[in-house]
Order: sequence, then structure tokens, then C-alpha cells
Amino acid sequence: MNIIIFGPPGAGKGTQSKFIVKKFNLFQLSTGDLLRSEIKNETTLGKKINEIVKSGSLVSDDIVSELIKNTVSKNSYSNRIIFDGYPRNLKQVENLKNILKKFNQKIDLVIKLVVSLDSIKKRIGGRVTCSKCGKIYNTYFEPIPNKNCCVNNNMFKRADDNTETAVKRYNTYVAETEPVLEYYKNLKLLKEVNGEMPITQIYDKITTIIEGIEGWLYHI
Ligand code: AMP
Repeated sequence: MNIIIFGPPGAGKGTQSKFIVKKFNLFQLSTGDLLRSEIKNETTLGKKINEIVKSGSLVSDDIVSELIKNTVSKNSYSNRIIFDGYPRNLKQVENLKNILKKFNQKIDLVIKLVVSLDSIKKRIGGRVTCSKCGKIYNTYFEPIPNKNCCVNNNMFKRADDNTETAVKRYNTYVAETEPVLEYYKNLKLLKEVNGEMPITQIYDKITTIIEGIEGWLYHI
């Protein structure tokens, strides 16, 4: 079972992916995380894409294609991937189709988290992450206990997590990614979930959808 999770930046894709990965023993493939890791490690690729990611624009399709291929080609991840943040435009849809075909796989479900721009601005503007455990807090909705998570002075803000860039990323999402959703809707793979609900309710809803797929199974 391969799943794609869609939604504007700050919709909760990463949070929900982590829950689903745990429950169904899947593997989360977040292109955003992979790209950020290249930037953090100051690799040749990281240096090349740093400014693009900071500005909220999309990195080239060829670069993300390579990252996707590296994961899809691994036997241990076969048919148990959640694509988080990919594909983001129609060219990437085509690339993904070809990569999956090459490795005898397909997409079984596409989930869209629906969240308004107003909520996005608050979620992204207030988002901070613990550099040790990766837990995400929000200064509006889930304040950090005693200003720290696991260790002192460990909270950081993603370089692209500010309201101005959030609006740009949202607009990029609407312009480039909405046509992608139309494509999967026509294939009858798309399910919409209200991303404004509390986290646990969203999770319950997604779990029910996954368990409704013919041939779904827990990968133990
Ligand atoms: P995300 O964490 O998914 O919000 O991604 C953060 C940033 O990484 C995006 O604003 C893009 O600059 C870049 N990025 C992530 N995924 C992709 C993708 N599939 N195609 C192009 N750029 C991407």
C-alpha cells in the first residue's frame, strides 16, 4: 500500500504521516525533510538548493526525482511508502508514475488535508521544532513547556516558517499542486479530510479511510 498525503504547508501532513507510519508500519518519504537534511549537512546539493527552499519556491523536478528513486528502489520500503510533499506538480506526477512502474508498484490512496489560509498563517508563524527529538510545537496552539523540550536552548524555527513565506508557499501549492489533486480525483484515488479538526480526530478519520482500502494490511 502506497499513500500520498497532500495539503498546503502547515496542514499537518508531517504530523499525520508520523502517526500513520507507526500504526501501519509504513515509511514516510518527506521530500522537504530530505532536502532540509541536505542543507543542514551542507552537501553540494544542499548548498545549491538552500536559497530556493528558503524562498518557498520549488526545487527542480530532477533533483527530487533522484531522492524519490533512492527510496522507492529499496526492497524494504516496497509498497509501504507515504509520500509527504511529493508530487507537487504534474511533471512530478509523471515522474512518480514512471518510477513506481519501474519497481512494480502503484499509488493506492491519496489524502488531501483541507485547511484555510488563515489557519496556515497561524500554524506556520507559530511553529517551532525541538532539534533533539523533532517534536513540533506551536506558540499559538501548543506552547513549549518552560520554553524548552528535551534539553535547554534546543528549539529552532525552520528558515521558511514565517508568515510571508507561508503565503508564498500556500500560493505555490494552490497554483502547482491543485492540478495534481484533480489528476488523482479522476483516478478515484482522492479522499478529502478536514484538516481543521483536532489532530486525533484527523488521525481517526485517516485510519478509517486506510482500513477501507481493499487489500490494506498492517506491515508487521
Ligand atoms: P515541505 O517541508 O514539504 O513544506 O517542503 C519545504 C520546501 O522544500 C518547499 O517549499 C520546497 O522548496 C522544497 N520541496 C519539498 N518537496 C518538494 C518537491 N516535491 N518538489 C520541489 N520542491 C520541494
